[in-house]
Amino acid sequence: MADVFSKEDRSEIMRQVKSCRNKSTELKLIGFFKENHIKGWRRNYKLYGNPDFVFLAKRLAIFADGCFWHGHNCRNTTPKDNAEYWNKKKERNKKRDQEVSQKLQEKGWNVIRIWECELKKKELLKEKLQVLFEMFRV
Ligand SMILES: [Zn+2]
Repeated sequence: MADVFSKEDRSEIMRQVKSCRNKSTELKLIGFFKENHIKGWRRNYKLYGNPDFVFLAKRLAIFADGCFWHGHNCRNTTPKDNAEYWNKKKERNKKRDQEVSQKLQEKGWNVIRIWECELKKKELLKEKLQVLFEMFRV
């Protein structure tokens, strides 16, 4: 698949992705929680793997993963230059993500990983976060 961004755009994106730990995905999720009257989430809770959000009452950890860095197979693809370098990096991240999820699950946590590109798909998001809606059903 071809890179949808020009070289200049791509390096600009990398800089942004590097500088802030995907704040925009976190903010979008917060927006989603608010829209759906979901409360009780905590940010920056100290837990193995640093999940973006936790719901302590449900022992639920949510990660919002950037598609590029975490190697999602969507349109946020690998740049043509240094493809090998990026692929290796992404493979490492993917492996680490799996390890983190597994460790947390062993400790009794539920883990949900949301891809950056899924934040736009409200229905899919609702499906993935079904457990949250169950929590708040009266
Ligand atoms: Zn994606």
